[in-house]
Amino acid sequence: MPPTPNRQPAKPTGLECRMAVLGADVRLTPHRREVFEVLQASTDHPTATDLFTRVKDRSPGISLATVYNCLEHLTGAGLIKQVHLERGQSRYCANLHEHVHFHCETCGKVIDAHPAADFDPAKFWNLPAGTRVSRMELAIHGTCSACAAR
Ligand SMILES: [Zn+2]
Ligand SMILES: [Zn+2]
Repeated sequence: MPPTPNRQPAKPTGLECRMAVLGADVRLTPHRREVFEVLQASTDHPTATDLFTRVKDRSPGISLATVYNCLEHLTGAGLIKQVHLERGQSRYCANLHEHVHFHCETCGKVIDAHPAADFDPAKFWNLPAGTRVSRMELAIHGTCSACAAR
């Protein structure tokens, strides 16, 4: 195996595919790309500060303000989602599949939960006839299995 180059070759990444599928129009600066890649590799729904700490290892010159700016552009283009679960800092999620967030009130962990069956929010929730759902933000709070076993 040759050594991994610092800069990735221009091959389509998950981000390019995602942009094509969404028809997202956002300029992919190296920082935006890196913030996206670090978020996509994180399963813990990090905050901007968490991401800053992780991206800094790869891009020592990046600032927290730049990370916020990247997150704003990526969220605006629909490439990632901003998650509000508690008071305080927003978290971010790169999972665009239909899912809700389970928040453990004991350890603070946030887990993605995908629907077990085909789920149509317009049918599940008793919404007025003719309502069109464009977005759903549903959070479930409780105790995760690790905390419950303690
Ligand atoms: Zn998520
Ligand atoms: Zn927990």
